[in-house]
Amino acid sequence: MPRRYLSGIRYSCVGLLCLTVLMISASAQSNSSALNDPRIDTRVNVLLNRMTLQEKIGQLVQYSAGSPTGPGTGRTDYPDMIAQGGIGSLFNLTGAREVNAMQKIAVEKSRLHIPLIFGLDVIHGYRTTFPVPLGMSATWNPNLVEKAARISAIEASQEGVRWTFSPMVDIARDARWGRIVEGAGEDTYLGQAIARAYVRGYQGTNLANPDSILACLKHYVAYGAAEAGRDYNTVDISHRSLRQVYLPPFKAGIDQGAATVMSAFDDLQGVPASANHYTLTQILRGEWGFRGFVVSDWNSVGELIPQGVALDQATAARKALTAGVDMDMESNSYGPTLQKQVQSGQIPESVVDEAVRRILRVKFAMGLFDHPYTDESKGNITSLDPEHVATARTVAEESFVLLKNAAVSGAPVLPLASSAKTIALIGPLADSATDMLGSWSTKGDPKDVVTLRQALSDRLAQSQGKLIYAKGTDILTNSEAGFAEAVSAAQEADVVVAALGEDAALMTGEAASRAHLNLPGNQEKLLEAVASTGKPVVLVVFSGRPLILDWEASHIPAILEAWFPGVQAGPALVRTLFGDANPSGRLTTSFPRAVGQEPLYYNHMNTGRPADGVDLSHPPTDAKEKYLSRYIDEQNSPLFPFGFGLSYTTFQYSSMTLSAQSLKADALNNGSAALTVSAEVKNTGTRAGAEVVQLYIRQQGTSVTRPVRELKGFQKVVLAPGESKRVEFKLGRDEFAFWNIDMKDVVEPAKVTIWVGPNSIEGSEAAFTIQ
Ligand code: BGC
Repeated sequence: MPRRYLSGIRYSCVGLLCLTVLMISASAQSNSSALNDPRIDTRVNVLLNRMTLQEKIGQLVQYSAGSPTGPGTGRTDYPDMIAQGGIGSLFNLTGAREVNAMQKIAVEKSRLHIPLIFGLDVIHGYRTTFPVPLGMSATWNPNLVEKAARISAIEASQEGVRWTFSPMVDIARDARWGRIVEGAGEDTYLGQAIARAYVRGYQGTNLANPDSILACLKHYVAYGAAEAGRDYNTVDISHRSLRQVYLPPFKAGIDQGAATVMSAFDDLQGVPASANHYTLTQILRGEWGFRGFVVSDWNSVGELIPQGVALDQATAARKALTAGVDMDMESNSYGPTLQKQVQSGQIPESVVDEAVRRILRVKFAMGLFDHPYTDESKGNITSLDPEHVATARTVAEESFVLLKNAAVSGAPVLPLASSAKTIALIGPLADSATDMLGSWSTKGDPKDVVTLRQALSDRLAQSQGKLIYAKGTDILTNSEAGFAEAVSAAQEADVVVAALGEDAALMTGEAASRAHLNLPGNQEKLLEAVASTGKPVVLVVFSGRPLILDWEASHIPAILEAWFPGVQAGPALVRTLFGDANPSGRLTTSFPRAVGQEPLYYNHMNTGRPADGVDLSHPPTDAKEKYLSRYIDEQNSPLFPFGFGLSYTTFQYSSMTLSAQSLKADALNNGSAALTVSAEVKNTGTRAGAEVVQLYIRQQGTSVTRPVRELKGFQKVVLAPGESKRVEFKLGRDEFAFWNIDMKDVVEPAKVTIWVGPNSIEGSEAAFTIQ
């Protein structure tokens, strides 16, 4: 649940030192090796042997220390519980002093002095708020995502937070789902790259560094496949798509060393994800060798009761724990019920021991026993670090996706000409600092935000231009009271910038699924009114998901998708509108023409009756047009496809080469062969720009059907005007393997088509064979 306003119980903090025989130094360990370090395991076992059953269960318990918006447990006796060793982790508590005060109770008053881990949803920045994750993914720049995550970790850890419930690596193919905003979009390959980047950024080079925070891969698993895009809904996908679409980003994050995983709310193939032994134990621990721990989602253990697999809390706790959920977030199920069940033999104590081991292992690996306290000398963050702000602006600029830029009077509307002296800025998002922070900006402060109105007014003041601002309407209203003012502003201006879109908190994120995906309220009507003045209009869309921009795409000459860009929304947008920054974002989620197309994603299977090459813009007129996999009243294709985005310059692709015409499946399987694909990319325009060069494959003749296209490589290259670059991709086992008819992850003989191009529907094409 979004919890923006956190209250903490204040205690005075006295000394920082606490000696226990168990103090160790794990600082020499790197992330994943620390979790595999036998010396840590020895220390864990020494400690475990000293623990009572009650103390062990205490480690498995987590509470929110302050949350006015969540259902909560109503408990406030945390200090007493901590002193008795009854809590392993607290979350939603921030501030070095506040956190230290609680830690002091754990370290000084509890019998075994075991420190707490403090967690928080640090989703897209801590105080310095970056674009929402969907926007960050649109940068197609994992290094930049890593940098943003590093900054988030530095800021969060300064205020005592050493664990974030991020990244959300759920693949989302349905724009109705509100939480599509929290992830990296619809593609598994890109999702894997972004997952790794977040983990590297959060956890740093060593988990024991004071500015490293634990990453938490969530929501395990397939939460994004909720039926009909309705949050918390049932997921009934095939085992094959579970394996090849939804699991890989988790695997990628774990291979990168992620220390924790969060079990999801969904009912997965009839077994709730938070009671799913197959995914939580067989796959995660058995197949992947994960050595960190699993925390439940908020009350997802308690929700096993309404889901129908438990009649009481004790059963819910038993099912979750034995399935592999080590820590119970907020459901208050483990604490009160496990002891009795162990004593009565319903749960073997070894199951509890193993869960405790995993949690203690992470606590040792992050150096908590050595350095349980946060350095208070830096104090809490009172203002933003200029370097962090600069990064926030860069990320925002790279996240913007230019969807349309048509010519008006002979020249593209964007970038704005210096002759555009008078600009009318209209729309409810033009000056809304809160919305710029996006759906889940833990500690983001609207005061830190520079809005589009502010930045545009500063810019025009420098160039003796004039800004006429008229809000026009609210995000959700029927009132047209402000329309006339907006229309007259447009009439007076050389160009209109319309800042329209969703309400970040209400319409995007958790529990914010939408059945209608148009611009909300009467914003489209306002846009029509303004456009009818005949003035060129630039539409800047703020949204946490793809919206249906059908009317807009055919009536408005320039459209820029800005997501929710964070604290530097205004400066990043103004630099982009005026051409100081050249848009290089590309869609990571397909934009539909109509809600009825959802779920809509580029890497779908072909059917026996594909509608390729058929004009779908009108109802079928004969049997040839009718008996196809199509709609009679809408096209199949998205309005804007995955991977798509324009630039102020143009790029040309040529001379695609393959290192071989064919390779043997066996050689690809055992890693002794790989294919090198390259293509020349040239900036054929007059401005410098970045292109996201994308490689896709299709495999045919295989034992199971394969998608019509699958992303298997991408590189973002910056090119000066006239400059060209040969971009090279290596395709091996990881790129060609899939879960075949025998549910084996292997490379099979296949006819392969390979594309290198600017998005999922264009590109140079070449043929290749796997024998
Ligand atoms: C969300 C999680 C989040 C948790 C803790 C839940 O409602 O689903 O994503 O991490 O709350 O705030």
